[in-house]
Amino acid sequence: MAQRVRHSTARPTGGRPSVAPTPSRSSVPTELPTYRKPSHPLNLNAQRRLRDLVHDQSLSLIKEHNTRAEVLITKIAGEINDMTRAKEERTARRRKKWEKGINVEEREEEERKLKELQSKVDDMTIQLEESMRAVIDNDVAAQRITQSLEWLQESAPEELRREYATQKSQRDSQIHSQSQRRQRSQRDGDGDEDMDVDEDESTPGPTLPEGSRIALTGPSELFKNRSDQKKNEYTSHSHKARYAKNNTYIGFKNIVHDAKYGDDGPNLPHPDHWFTEAGEPAHGVTQHGNDSDDDLVMDRGTISVRCPLTFLTFKDPYTSKKCPHSFEKDPILEMIRQSKTMLGGGGQRGQGHRAVKCPVTGCEQMLTASDLAPDPILIRKIKRIQQAEAQNDQESDADSEDDVPQVPRSQIDGSMEIEEPVVSRHSVVKREARESVVPATQQPPQSSKIEDLGSEEDDGEEEEEEEEEV
Ligand SMILES: [Zn+2]
Repeated sequence: MAQRVRHSTARPTGGRPSVAPTPSRSSVPTELPTYRKPSHPLNLNAQRRLRDLVHDQSLSLIKEHNTRAEVLITKIAGEINDMTRAKEERTARRRKKWEKGINVEEREEEERKLKELQSKVDDMTIQLEESMRAVIDNDVAAQRITQSLEWLQESAPEELRREYATQKSQRDSQIHSQSQRRQRSQRDGDGDEDMDVDEDESTPGPTLPEGSRIALTGPSELFKNRSDQKKNEYTSHSHKARYAKNNTYIGFKNIVHDAKYGDDGPNLPHPDHWFTEAGEPAHGVTQHGNDSDDDLVMDRGTISVRCPLTFLTFKDPYTSKKCPHSFEKDPILEMIRQSKTMLGGGGQRGQGHRAVKCPVTGCEQMLTASDLAPDPILIRKIKRIQQAEAQNDQESDADSEDDVPQVPRSQIDGSMEIEEPVVSRHSVVKREARESVVPATQQPPQSSKIEDLGSEEDDGEEEEEEEEEV
């Protein structure tokens, strides 16, 4: 009799630890039944479902949105700073007039307007910088979800199998010892023995299938623990580690700096100086002349607005990642495509990538298609030079009183700015000459037929993406 009472009080209820709801329960609709931990390892169907999650398209949509946001934030930050610099330059020209006593009555109003604009744009740039970091965090979070799901798909089946085996053998031995005790107590006819059995309430006996349920760590819990752990790892890193090495962030900083200071401003500080000790963005610009050993701020020569292969004005310049040389996209890619020289691949026939020696005299770099990419900062600089030239050609009055800046059409298509930001190799290159004459050792390819180089062209293998923190 006593046994029956004991067992009935041990019946599982919602409050039983083994069927306790997971912490995320509050975020799911209340109509759902109480979450119960799985009682068996994952079957093939469950494993397939996990695999489907890894390939779920909604995550790639998030990544697309993030990339789009990064491009737009960079573009807008560049544009508002471009406009402000144009306004500053206009005001500077007017100051010369005012000093000569011309239209002096405008001065106060003009200077006030400029100050207002500058402070507004500075505030917006600060906000955009914060947004950029937030999007990068989102990006990392999306990667974290993917990687945690991949980990889950690989680890969960084995993890649950192991837990199941452990719990099952524990339960089996308990069932065994309980039934032995029961037999003993029935044999002795001594009710006091029940007291001992009561202590085992958390390990129900075999006569109660409900209470004997094995409770394994659910895949959702495994996933949450894993991604929480990875998130903590990421957020424990300094701002410098999280952003100053991120190519998207570097691209943003370069564009903003170039837009703000144009060709005559100070150098962009080394990424080590982008954040204060406290992790706040350091907005001031200081000159760090000793950073020339760094790839990012290395002076890589003067800017030419003409392709050294075609001698024509750049329309779609592609810049080498190995040397400071740029070429018109199609001719250089065609030249590489026709090359018999292979780079990499261990010297095996048909292995490696086609390469040419950099066509600029004196440059010994071997270039493959993936060594070349558009450089947004160079494109901006070339565009400015082309605009200035076009303006000179027009002989238009540079002192135009118009508040809307006159923007002559550049050879470079504005749509190129939408390209995903890449690390600029020309962040601080000072324009020392309008054009540098760069003799080409090789003539441009005769064929006008440009064939698609396929994925080689933009596989980005050489990008430093791997360094991103996750
Ligand atoms: Zn070169």
